[in-house]
Amino acid sequence: MKLTKAELKEYKNILLNLRARVSGDMTSLQDSAMSDQSLGAANSSIPSHIADAGSDAFDQDNTLRLIDNESVALNLIDDALERVKSGTFGFCTNCNAKIGKMRIQVLPYTPYCIKCANELES
Ligand SMILES: [Zn+2]
Repeated sequence: MKLTKAELKEYKNILLNLRARVSGDMTSLQDSAMSDQSLGAANSSIPSHIADAGSDAFDQDNTLRLIDNESVALNLIDDALERVKSGTFGFCTNCNAKIGKMRIQVLPYTPYCIKCANELES
């Protein structure tokens, strides 16, 4: 059974938020030699209070910490957004099993169900 439109929309927002933060982090690294003023202007579209917005933001911080390589993360997030568009988001790209809701909430960009992830990692 596919995810509902409301669920897809919710995950799309989570993914877009993650993507903005990952790419924002990359930008701030690249811009670190520049003045704080230009950095503040570049980030003005992202509310600074978002990190304190609640447990969702906290979970996303933890999610981002699991990602070593930001460009890999962006690829995973973009792939996940494509799956949202095509309506296949929430299903394992390896075995087509439905990915558990808990797993999607922790790793919204994951292409694999827990079983395949364990098999592919081992
Ligand atoms: Zn699977």
